[in-house]
Amino acid sequence: MKLRKCDGCNNYTFKQTCPKCGKETVNPAPPRYSPEDKYGSLRRKFKESAAPNNLNKL
Ligand SMILES: [Zn+2]
Repeated sequence: MKLRKCDGCNNYTFKQTCPKCGKETVNPAPPRYSPEDKYGSLRRKFKESAAPNNLNKL
């Protein structure tokens, strides 16, 4: 089961309707620019710089 969010009171619940206000809950959409992507590219850069091929050039 996925965690859902109430738009009315920002309550997080596993239920289809918010137990607090009775409003229908929504599946929170992932942000368009997620910080994970940023760290992902940083990780990739770090991996590249730490690759054996680059180490040989140092
Ligand atoms: Zn609610």
